[in-house]
Amino acid sequence: MSAFDEFLRSNRGYVQVFDAGDLPAPPSRQVAVVTCMDARLDPEEFLGLGLGEAHVIRNAGGRVSEDTLRSLVISQRLLGTDEVVVIHHTDCGMMSFTNDDLRQKIRSDLGADASGTDFMPFSDLEDSVREDVERVRSSELVPDDVTVRGAVYEVETGGIREVPGR
Ligand code: ZN
Repeated sequence: MSAFDEFLRSNRGYVQVFDAGDLPAPPSRQVAVVTCMDARLDPEEFLGLGLGEAHVIRNAGGRVSEDTLRSLVISQRLLGTDEVVVIHHTDCGMMSFTNDDLRQKIRSDLGADASGTDFMPFSDLEDSVREDVERVRSSELVPDDVTVRGAVYEVETGGIREVPGR
């Protein structure tokens, strides 16, 4: 049985107890969180977020890529958010490889050329948070009155701590 078959089964149970079908689309707490796709992170749980309260944008590393900015612009301009929190985490897989490592693996596994792709790995956790906070702040598509702050989540403790700017 594939994972998706199991999802179909689990969802039948979810529908039985689901009672939030009338929530509005704009996040009620007017905030967007950018964080990593790591399976150990449960941002709604560790941030105390309920359904309908925030946009949670996830990708490898919680990096502010072009596509993250695309989502943030839609979040802000069309759905009323005015605060962004960037959260990277300890033991992130993005610290375990370089662009060259992954490009070589793709070449050997797939015979494909990924030389034009920046996978956005990083070596310093706090610097990567500051870099992504700055990427949001400095985007001309993000207005100056949007609050942007960064944090590190510790997979060991479940805690988050703010990463101060420079
Ligand atoms: Zn990660």
